[in-house]
Amino acid sequence: MGRDVIKLNANENPYPPAPGVEAAIRGVQAEALRKYPQIDSTDLRQALADYHGLASGSVFAGNGSDEVLAFAFRAFFNSSLPVLFPEITYSFYPVWCRVFGIPYRRVPLAEGFRIDVAGYAGGNGGVVIANPNAPTGLCLERGQIEGLLRANSGSVVIIDEAYIDFGGLSSAGLTERHENLLVTQTFSKGRSLAGLRIGAAFGSPELIRTLDAVKNSFNSYPIDSVAAAAGVASLSDEAYFKKRARQIAATRERAREALEGMGFYATKSEANFLFVSHPGVDAVALQAYLKENGVLVRHFSQRGIERFLRISVGTEVQMDRLLALIEKYLQ
Ligand SMILES: *Cc1c(COP(=O)(O)O)cnc(C)c1O
Repeated sequence: MGRDVIKLNANENPYPPAPGVEAAIRGVQAEALRKYPQIDSTDLRQALADYHGLASGSVFAGNGSDEVLAFAFRAFFNSSLPVLFPEITYSFYPVWCRVFGIPYRRVPLAEGFRIDVAGYAGGNGGVVIANPNAPTGLCLERGQIEGLLRANSGSVVIIDEAYIDFGGLSSAGLTERHENLLVTQTFSKGRSLAGLRIGAAFGSPELIRTLDAVKNSFNSYPIDSVAAAAGVASLSDEAYFKKRARQIAATRERAREALEGMGFYATKSEANFLFVSHPGVDAVALQAYLKENGVLVRHFSQRGIERFLRISVGTEVQMDRLLALIEKYLQ
C-alpha cells in the first residue's frame, strides 16, 4: 500500500501508543527473550486489576480480544439453546459460533439500530453484545445492561467493550455484583496497540478460572514478553490514554457535524468511527471514489446497512482530507 494512503477502514488508532510503550519495548533485553513468557501474564493481569480496581483473580489476558472471545465462547456457550446477539454487530460472533458448533440466533434491532434488550430475556445459551455496538457505535445505558444481566441470570452475558474508551461507561465494575457477566476489552483501539495483540476479560473468579482452564486445554500460548511489557507500560500512563481518547471523540464530533451539514445521516456513535449514509449517495460508489483518492473506508454488504459506510476517526488532518473529498464528490 502506498505511503500516502489514509486508512480509515479498520478502526485503528491514528495516534501512537503512550511514549512509555516505546521505552518498555526498547528496555526488553534480547538476552531475556531466551526464556518463555510468564505463563499466566501475571504482571499484565495485576496491572489490569490495579487499573480497574478489581481483584487479580477477576482478570484474564489473551492475545487480542478476538482470542479472549474465542475462549469465552468455548467456555460459556455450551448449551443446546441458541446464543443471542444483535442482528447487526461484530462479524466475528457468528464466525466463532460456527467454528465451535454453537447454535445462535440474531435478535432484530429496534428503530435507529437500537438494541432491544427485551429481545434477550431468558431461554438462551448465552448473550454477547458489543457496547458500543459495531458498526453502529451505539451504547446501551447502565440500567439496560443491569436489566439484561438480571433477565439472564441462568446464562453468561458477554459485554464486548472494544470501543468503550471513546465515550461509553464500562461495565467492568459490575462484574463484582453479577456472577454471569464477562466484560472483554482490547488494547488494539483505545491504546493504539493493534499490532501487539493484547486483549483482556473481567469477571467473577469462577468465570476467570473457567476461562483459564479452556485456555490451558485449547491454546495455551501466553502473551509474549514484549507485548506484556508494552501493555503494562500503556496502563501506567492514564493521562496520555485519556487525552488521546478525548481528542478522537472531539474529532469524531466535528466530522459528524460536517457530514450532517452535507446531508448525511450519522448514528450517535460513541466509538472511534462514524456510521453514515446519505439519501442521494450510493455507499459502494462513494467508497470506490474515496479509494481512488487514497482514503480507505469500510462498507458492509449485510442487508439493512448496505447504504452505510463506516469511517474510522483519523487525525484532524486526515479527516479534513476525507471531508474535502466527500464535498467534492457531492458537487
Ligand atoms: C476490534 C474488535 C475486537 C477485536 O479486537 P482485538 O483485540 O484486536 O482482537 C473485538 N470486538 C470488537 C467489537 C471489535 O471491533
